Parts: sequence; structure tokens; C-alpha cells
Amino acid sequence: MDPKTTALIHHPYQPPAGFGAVPVAVHKASTVLFPDTAALRARTWKEKTGYTYGLHGTPTSFVLEERIAALEGGLQTLLVPSGLAAIASVDLALLKAGDTLLLPDNVYGPSRELARQELAGWGIAHRLYDPLDPASLDAALASVAPGTTPLVWLEAAGSVTMEFPDLPALLQIARRHGALAALDNTWGAGIAFDAFDLEPGRGSAPLGVDICVQALTKYPSGGADVLMGSVTTRDEALHLRLKLGHMRLGWGVGANDVEFVLRALPSLALRYAAHDRAARRLAHWWSRRPEVVQVLHPALEGSPGHAHWQALCGARDAAAGLFSVVFDERHAPARVDAFVDALRLFGIGYSWAGPLSLAVPYDLSAMRAQPAWCGTLVRFSVGLEAVEDLEADCAQALAQAFGA
Ligand SMILES: *Cc1c(COP(=O)(O)O)cnc(C)c1O
Repeated sequence: MDPKTTALIHHPYQPPAGFGAVPVAVHKASTVLFPDTAALRARTWKEKTGYTYGLHGTPTSFVLEERIAALEGGLQTLLVPSGLAAIASVDLALLKAGDTLLLPDNVYGPSRELARQELAGWGIAHRLYDPLDPASLDAALASVAPGTTPLVWLEAAGSVTMEFPDLPALLQIARRHGALAALDNTWGAGIAFDAFDLEPGRGSAPLGVDICVQALTKYPSGGADVLMGSVTTRDEALHLRLKLGHMRLGWGVGANDVEFVLRALPSLALRYAAHDRAARRLAHWWSRRPEVVQVLHPALEGSPGHAHWQALCGARDAAAGLFSVVFDERHAPARVDAFVDALRLFGIGYSWAGPLSLAVPYDLSAMRAQPAWCGTLVRFSVGLEAVEDLEADCAQALAQAFGA
């Protein structure tokens, strides 16, 4: 059964007896009653064999956990209140003073700020590596204090500059150094590639990441109205470590938010494909515009890491509906801002994978340690509007700002 489509609809959920409804019921509780003290003492929240307390799961949240695990190709999933909380919960559960975190230079910004501002204060070091140069990860890992287990974060593609790394190569380097590897899979959403099996058909032991995190806020929700994150693993012992950290931090999710995501999951693959189609068409349109020097979209030839995207996602020909354009340096940032302000259909705002298209300008030199990145970039999140309308909107805004 296809885990990205059919299995998200045909799921072994059992409605209450005599009520053959398809949607999952919304169960809410803090207290869960036990029949007697013996049952209270015997029940463990570590396995999903029973319920102990609302924070540790309800019949509703257990269903979403199972569905995300199936979508990612993992065994177990934890839900947290945001994508950033998912990243933080991995860092906090696995790292202690003296340990080192390895982050790609294009990492999701708030993840780097967490390392810089919070983890550093607790004695946890971090180093940046170039996501397109596996040797730089190798060198960074070689300098990690002996006797500690480093944690390597991976991202494919980077969510602003869109580089697509050689994930299998980075993973093999992490393995060689005994490091754990966690992927922020928000871009792939479990649709574009299988994070727990990066080289399908290669052999009996799949080459896959240890941990897969998603901002369910983006594609799985799809409505721009929910904040939620997931942490998925394939390994029982690792899941238990993460689950203990999750329990001690007290991160629960609301049942109504879970319901929103459950409601949106059956259309995930369709929405992903629709955003993808429109974004690629608009990205091609931009690649013919004289105002920009580069269009960054991993499925476009010449975009950084295009060959790695081709190797991993080419068979499914899938990409998220995100791309960025880099304006020629002779255009002042104020002019690029004027272009963004002149857009009528694109909202100005963060996030992506909702129905409304969005645009955000970024000053590259302020974001990146690597000096190769400069100029002003605009990232587009392509929504579900008619793509002809989006093209016309970009054209009129360019005419207004650049007088073309
Ligand atoms: C949005 C996003 C997050 C964080 O998700 P929130 O739910 O907004 O906290 C993490 N990683 C990536 C790549 C994202 O795009």
C-alpha cells in the first residue's frame, strides 16, 4: 500500500462500536482514570499499550503519530507544539555539556540561534559545515572532543538558499565518526524521498538518517492555521531517549490542532504536487528575467546541488513549492523591497505550504558565514492560486519597481 497516499486514507483506525465514521474522533483529557490502584501502578506511558495522562497521548494523538511514522517510513513519532520545538527536543534530549552539534551553514535560522544563544550557555558547542562540501563535515567532526557523540543536522534542500546536499555522502561521514544524524525533513515532507532509506534497493541494511523531524506546520497541515512538529525514529532505544526528554520537557499538543492535521493528511501528496508544479513553472519564468542573476530551485539545472536532487528525488520528480531569486547586485536592496511591496497576490510573511503565496526578501551576507553568498534574495512560497495570475503579479510588480 502506498504510504504517501493510500495508507493515509486506509488506516486501521477503529471508530467507536456501531458508529462507522471515517474521520478520527477528537479526544480531550488531562486526567485519564484508572480502574483501580493496581492498574495505576502497572500502566506504563513508555509504550502505547494504554493511556496514563493527557500530556502523554490520547487516542487522537496516537493516530496522528502512527500516520506520520508511516509517511516518513519510521517506526515511532513524537508530536511537539512546533517545528522549532521538534528541533529543540532532539537537541535537548541527546546533548549534554561537552557535546558538539554540527549544523549546515544554510540551516533553518532559528535552529542556529538556539545553538548560539541557548545551547552554548549550557556548554554545548556547535560548528557549521558547508552542506555542499562533505569534506567540510568530515573536518568539523574530526575536531570534536573524543569520547562524546556528536549530533549532525541535515537539511535538504536549505529553506532559503535551496542548496541540495549529497545526503548519502554526509550520512556516511556522520556514521564513520559515530555521530547521530538528524534530518529536518520539512522540505521533503515524507513525499519527495524516503529519509530512512536514501538508497532504495541498495542492500539489506538501508542507509537512512537516525531521526527525522518535520514542521507539520507546513505541508502536513497545509492550511497556515496550525503550529506543530514531529520527531520520528526507526530505532526503539533512540525513540525511548527522545521520548524521555519529551516527557520531562512537558511538550504536549492540542487535540483540535491534531484534528486539523489529520484532516489535511489525505490530500498531502496532491497538494505537494500542485505546489511543486506551480513553483517550477514560476521559477522557469523568473529564469528568463534580466533583473535576477540566479534562480535557486533544486530541480532547475544550474541550481546548487541539482545533481544531488536528481539522484535522490529524480525518480519521483518531486520538490517543494519553494524557490528563491537572487537580484543583480547593482539593484539596491530598497528597490528589491519596493518590488516585494508592489506584489498584490503574494503576502509578505514567513512560513510556506499554505494556500496563499508568500514572498520574503533576505539579505544574504547577514545570514551566512560563507562569503560566497551576497546580494538580495527573494524567497517565494508558491500557494494554490492559478499560476498565470502569479506570473502576471510578478510582472506588474517588476514593472512598478524596476520600470521595465
Ligand atoms: C518552518 C520551519 C521550521 C519550524 O517550524 P515552526 O512550526 O514554524 O516552528 C523548521 N524547519 C524548517 C525547514 C522550516 O521551514
